[in-house]
Amino acid sequence: MLHGWIPPSRFLAYLTTEDIASMPGKADVVILQPVAAIEQHGPHLPLAVDSAIVMGVLGHALARLPAGVPCYCLPPICYGKSNEHIRFPGTVTVSASTLAALLGEVADSVHRMGFRKLAFVNSHGGQPQVVQVAARDARERHPDFDLFPLFVWNVPNASAELLAPKELETGIHAGTAETALMMALLPDQVRMDKRVCEYPPMLPAGSMLSIEGALPYAWLTDDLSRSGVIGDATAATLAMGEHLLDSLADGWAALIAELHQFQNPASGNPARGSERSS
Ligand SMILES: [Zn+2]
Repeated sequence: MLHGWIPPSRFLAYLTTEDIASMPGKADVVILQPVAAIEQHGPHLPLAVDSAIVMGVLGHALARLPAGVPCYCLPPICYGKSNEHIRFPGTVTVSASTLAALLGEVADSVHRMGFRKLAFVNSHGGQPQVVQVAARDARERHPDFDLFPLFVWNVPNASAELLAPKELETGIHAGTAETALMMALLPDQVRMDKRVCEYPPMLPAGSMLSIEGALPYAWLTDDLSRSGVIGDATAATLAMGEHLLDSLADGWAALIAELHQFQNPASGNPARGSERSS
């Protein structure tokens, strides 16, 4: 079961070298690279949450993607840049430069196969910046390559209707959304009796700063939480998780179909598709 939730017919690593060499229309085939983490998620969730969520969501999306939309998913990169959690046992982290180098070399490999559309689908909130830099650098190396640095939670989904306002704003780790999704994906790995609610200490009233958003400060998880949870895990229900998963899968199926159709607005530009002269 190396493919996890991904339908076997959509799992790139189950193809052969001959399948890749002879595949027609590779320029418009969408390749997905899940980018995740192995890091603490409080007392009630396993270290693998981000890895399970990105594979679970993409698997459910690919299962409902029309057969006529060509798309393959690579095996996940389970190790991410998780040093904000480093003081909690169990966390594995690699440096930003290691992760960027790995993503860059995966991109070069996918381009060498003849594919021209690659989406990094990241599920860990501590590394979107690294994913963006790696995608931009690969785009610069390969003028005919379309790259998409994406975050798994950013497609339209049911979060806003399911989560309490405070949770939407500050429930950023192992809270209601992640717990509910894990109850839907891997119920045997959720320790229901160990769920907690822990919100971070408040900034002074009127502060322009916030934990995330436009004017953040650089925190470590132990600045914000004793348990490792930042949010309310106790509010999660299975029904909520199933609803979230269904909405995320719909969002990703729609986005993958759009990536398949995507044409870079500059594709008529003669400078694109060839090495630049300067
Ligand atoms: Zn997480």
